[in-house]
Amino acid sequence: MLEQAQRVLKDIFGYDSFRGRQAAIIECVASGGDALVLMPTGGGKSLCFQVPALLRPGLAVVVSPLIALMDDQVATLDELGVAAAALNSTLSPEQQRELAGRLRRGEVKMLYLAPERLVQPRMLEFLRTLDIALFAIDEAHCVSQWGHDFRPEYLQLGQLAELFPHVPRIALTATADMRTREEIVQRLHLQGAERFLSSFDRPNIFYRIVPKESPRKQLMAFLGERRGNAGIVYCLSRKKVDETAAFLCEQGFPALPYHAGLAAETRSANQHRFLNEEGLIMVATIAFGMGIDKPNVRFVAHLDLPKSMEAYYQETGRAGRDGLPSDAWMAYGLQDMVMLKQMLQNSEGDERHKRIEQHKLDAMLALCEETRCRRQSLLAYFDEVLEQPCGHCDNCVDQVQTWDATEPARQALSAVYRTGQRYGVGHLVDVLVGKDTEKVRNFGHEKLSVFGVGKALSEHEWRSLFRQLVARGLVDIDLEGYGGLRLSDSCRPLLRGEVNLQLRRDLKPQTVAKSSGGGSPASQLVRAEERELWEALRALRRKLAAEHSVPPYVIFPDSTLLEMLRSQPTSLSEMAQVSGVGARKLERYGEAFLDVLNGGEGEEAPKVVLDLRHELVSLARAGMTPAQIAGQLNCSEKNVYSLLAEALGRQELTLEQALDLPEELLMEVQDAFLDGEGELPPVATVSALFGPRVPEGVLHCVRAALAAEFEL
Ligand code: ADP
Ligand code: ZN
Repeated sequence: MLEQAQRVLKDIFGYDSFRGRQAAIIECVASGGDALVLMPTGGGKSLCFQVPALLRPGLAVVVSPLIALMDDQVATLDELGVAAAALNSTLSPEQQRELAGRLRRGEVKMLYLAPERLVQPRMLEFLRTLDIALFAIDEAHCVSQWGHDFRPEYLQLGQLAELFPHVPRIALTATADMRTREEIVQRLHLQGAERFLSSFDRPNIFYRIVPKESPRKQLMAFLGERRGNAGIVYCLSRKKVDETAAFLCEQGFPALPYHAGLAAETRSANQHRFLNEEGLIMVATIAFGMGIDKPNVRFVAHLDLPKSMEAYYQETGRAGRDGLPSDAWMAYGLQDMVMLKQMLQNSEGDERHKRIEQHKLDAMLALCEETRCRRQSLLAYFDEVLEQPCGHCDNCVDQVQTWDATEPARQALSAVYRTGQRYGVGHLVDVLVGKDTEKVRNFGHEKLSVFGVGKALSEHEWRSLFRQLVARGLVDIDLEGYGGLRLSDSCRPLLRGEVNLQLRRDLKPQTVAKSSGGGSPASQLVRAEERELWEALRALRRKLAAEHSVPPYVIFPDSTLLEMLRSQPTSLSEMAQVSGVGARKLERYGEAFLDVLNGGEGEEAPKVVLDLRHELVSLARAGMTPAQIAGQLNCSEKNVYSLLAEALGRQELTLEQALDLPEELLMEVQDAFLDGEGELPPVATVSALFGPRVPEGVLHCVRAALAAEFEL
């Protein structure tokens, strides 16, 4: 079974190996079992039902809540040469009849439809006359009444269990919390289903949260390093969306607005452009997102604070579905807290509900002020333990400093108290640093004992301190009045000197702007010297996409283009090795992309390859393992091994530098090659001796090194 699945994976989808739990899930469903799959966005859920669909006889029925998503998947399957169709309201009665005919004749392998369609009695009757391979229920959390995406029609999908008792069902979702999970099992009657829970970490996303200083400038610095990439900028209000989009356009960034206040046509036109064009920035409220399947969203930027960790995880999660390096960036400040707390206060709902929302907001604030690894903290919120700091977030990279703020914090609290608990941060800071302003004099605050006691800190440091006091709930915001600060009960231990307070040391504003994206890899997806060829490949992809009326990523995802760029195939058989190039796409597009890669103005190509080789040798000498080098250079390990073998052949590296193998095993492998007397045996012969213990790439390397050394 798995062997067959492997073949489908390579031949149809063009991929070399399954990811994470895909193989186990596919085996379960293909052999007729039910499955509940919890996997983060970009984890590769689609293959979990598409491969079994191709392995089992009959029609696979896929339930999906959004027409846009269906069309996207059908187009993708179409490009792969798989007979797929979507049944939705955009089809004319004529087209529907035609589709029914094809279904009856068994000419369709996968049928996508909305839940309300599927559960129509006539539809169910019709399906019962067909041979059904499986039911896949995508976005299964839509069955949960607690979630944001509740779809009442999903409730009726439970009856599939009784109507089609022998047809395997697989439910998939990227929502992991326990309550939703149990609801899915209950309502979809999946009590007997095997459960597959993946880690919800998104390792390719780099998280950064910066204090808001001058948000537009900070945003531009961030975007400036990511020109040409597609991304989403989230704002809280419609007005701010419009203003920000207009501002970005003025500044030469291609931005579009999206929010519920826009006319339906504008919204769908903007969404269409975002999906089909490259490098557009969507400035949006949270109305934009659900059903955005665009895999190469390179960044998500928040100009306003999301109201919960759940929202933050979901919104940032729209970046990097394709697994390539991506950024989640946010600027947040005191004003965000005021705004959200106000919204919460004024929202409808009972006290209990408000308390829950308040806790959620507090957790979000804690993430913002977190001094340890952001990823550890984010995952911990979802009950997942990450043993080590990730090394791939701002806090890990910048090594955030903390400082003992006990004394200044008490001065700040005292300033709040002595001025009568009604002023905002601006005035309080003026009092602390002893600024002679009109407001200070009007209220006689220069006579207070706290006036000027805080000269040792800068205004910037005081603002940072107040923000953190509010975030930690040591100070409250007066929401009924003008947003002045008040002491809260929880500040008493601090005032009485019973506890100490450690706070985060914000980076200086200048450094913040500069390092807003520094050290983060997404902007370096393509190196400067590769850009020309990269653009040529993208141009060809755009042209083909337009010809086929599909988004560019349906032709090839960025990861495939990137691998072409790095591995420089020169023949169709080499092209077939590139991940994401299946049989059908090879046939359709192989030649065209080879032409670009090896084409007329090929000056660029050899140089890129040389640079890559050079870099690879330096990285290996620096002690990186092949896997790490693959990550660094963004290409497959297979390619790294073959480049390493070349370098070994030129004796630019030693085996110890090139490989990550225990010394004993390395000796064993060398001996196996040298046993042949005079002639080195082919890799396949030695491979048979070691089996999966030693990857084939390693054998190629050893052989190349020996050949060079003994001039064989
Ligand atoms: P999800 O639905 O979980 O968000 P998708 O099914 O859209 O994720 O997959 C995300 C991306 O990863 C797609 O571009 C898909 O083709 C790719 N992908 C999935 N599985 C594999 C695999 N085994 N090898 C290579 N790429 C894969
Ligand atoms: Zn980290």
